[in-house]
Amino acid sequence: MKKEVEKELQKLIRTATNKSLVPEDFEGICKSVNVVRMYYDISFDSNGYRGVGDEKNDSHFQVVELYDLKVKSGIKKVFTFFYSGNEYVHACIEFAEGIEEQDIDMDTCGILADVIYILVSRQNMRLMLDYAESHDALTGIPNLKAVSSKYMSSVVRNPDVKYVVLYINVKDFKYINDRGGVHLGDFAMAKLAKKLEGYIREDEGICRVGGDNFAFFIRRDNLELMLDRLKSVRVDGLIGLRNNSHRFSFRIGVSDTEVKEFGARLEEASTACIMGRSVLKKDVVIYNLELSEIINYNNSVVAAFADALTGNEFVPYFQPKVNMCTGEILGLEALCRWVRNGEVVEPMDFIPQLDRKGMITELDMAMLESACKSISKWKKMGLKVPVVSVNFSKKNIFVPDIERKIISIIDNNDVGCDLIEIEITETVHESEISRLIEFVRILKNYGIKISIDDFGTGYSSLSLIHNINADEVKIDQSFVKRLAYEDKAVMLVESIINIAERLNMQVIAEGVENAEEGRILLKLGCKIVQGFYYEKPVSCEKTADILGSHSYRTIKI
Ligand code: C2E
Ligand code: MG
Ligand code: MG
Repeated sequence: MKKEVEKELQKLIRTATNKSLVPEDFEGICKSVNVVRMYYDISFDSNGYRGVGDEKNDSHFQVVELYDLKVKSGIKKVFTFFYSGNEYVHACIEFAEGIEEQDIDMDTCGILADVIYILVSRQNMRLMLDYAESHDALTGIPNLKAVSSKYMSSVVRNPDVKYVVLYINVKDFKYINDRGGVHLGDFAMAKLAKKLEGYIREDEGICRVGGDNFAFFIRRDNLELMLDRLKSVRVDGLIGLRNNSHRFSFRIGVSDTEVKEFGARLEEASTACIMGRSVLKKDVVIYNLELSEIINYNNSVVAAFADALTGNEFVPYFQPKVNMCTGEILGLEALCRWVRNGEVVEPMDFIPQLDRKGMITELDMAMLESACKSISKWKKMGLKVPVVSVNFSKKNIFVPDIERKIISIIDNNDVGCDLIEIEITETVHESEISRLIEFVRILKNYGIKISIDDFGTGYSSLSLIHNINADEVKIDQSFVKRLAYEDKAVMLVESIINIAERLNMQVIAEGVENAEEGRILLKLGCKIVQGFYYEKPVSCEKTADILGSHSYRTIKI
């Protein structure tokens, strides 16, 4: 290599390590080796944008000029570098017209090509970093940061347009991972994201907000169409699934308020989505004034709970379980009431909130304690006390040492375990059954009775009733209501009664409001009922009166 060329090259390399190169930096070296034009192009990864240039350009080649003397060129040399994945960088060097092959200094050209390659890598790295900062790595669609700034610019640019913000959660995405593994899951998520991205218009935005959740902002007049499209989104090419495709559906929360900041609106939309799932049981929930009132109310319940508990504001009411043939009281169910600011609040207005926040165990334990105290009081009055049942959230079975806590509450109040029954709902998940079996076994060893509440409404009814050695099954009131006019309900109730009898369990029907329902149940073989026909839940004092004097009217077939 000529001394002069070597000097120029060294100068270029020094410059390249300190700053981004501009065409003037190449002038010296190019002139010394008769190069008139230098540029590079990149073959792109066919899965999406990865290179230098305009993101919207879907061409797979991008030419970037480094130096151009703007004169006619002759021989062209191309050096190809493998970049990453299926990306290639081509460093192209063109020589002045009339330069022959033997005049070309290939060593110098090779070094020049290396410099070009390093330049590309550096520039590409910068673009990729910019890209990563604004895009979701898994799906390649924009991320939250990018969409919130796009939202602000759309709002500012189109002051007359109303935008709604959507928070959507893919239903049952776990199915894809379970069926095809995590790789198919990732692939499906990326394909789904691209499809959803295709639904938005230029001034609208979409991003993935982690897990299987997406956020949109769209024009309000596009909402109806969007909700319609989101009812079922088909994604093809998912090898390993039936028909290699899957139809996705979503839980959707919509913020249709005036709040301007994107984060605040997204919070409203996500709250609506969560409320739809946990409370309202709806796939699409629009965040509005009504919903914000519910949320405020729920928060107030949670905030007031600790003080209400220590202030003894939660009290049990009792509802008798009656034998329709004899009018005899066979049991009492303790049902919680909250005496809040002098008003009696029903459990459905606070139990679900406490259950969701993990505070239900304290309440259930307090109810057990109050029930025991009531039993002691009635006994001291010389009354004959039947078995008293308390309701238990299924969350309690996972509280460490729960069985010991239950027993010690009963013992400390000097009540026999045989007077206590625990009602658990049957809506336990399959995975929870083994723990439930153990819980029941331990309590039954102490003589505590177990009742399966709301039977028939859950999804594990049959396996539960076979696996759990319960004493009682409570037929849910939704069946009782339908008995008079729906043959299917009659058949279901009849079979529940048969199974319970065969498994030696007592059957009781809940929510009996009139003699007609009582008569049908009697005909089907169920003698014990609980319901407004006999008594509404009443206070401890009123229960004492009932226990002292009452035998209820009987029902004859
Ligand atoms: P549940 O255990 O199934 O209780 C039966 C519900 O049906 C009670 O509602 C009762 O008042 C109502 N009911 C009884 N007879 C009739 C009738 O003839 N017609 C109608 N329409 N309703 C009737 P309540 O007291 O509002 O309790 C609702 C639910 O709250 C209970 O359902 C139970 O799941 C839960 N709950 C109540 N107290 C507690 C508690 O201390 N702990 C827990 N974890 N849950 C409780
Ligand atoms: Mg109950
Ligand atoms: Mg029930």
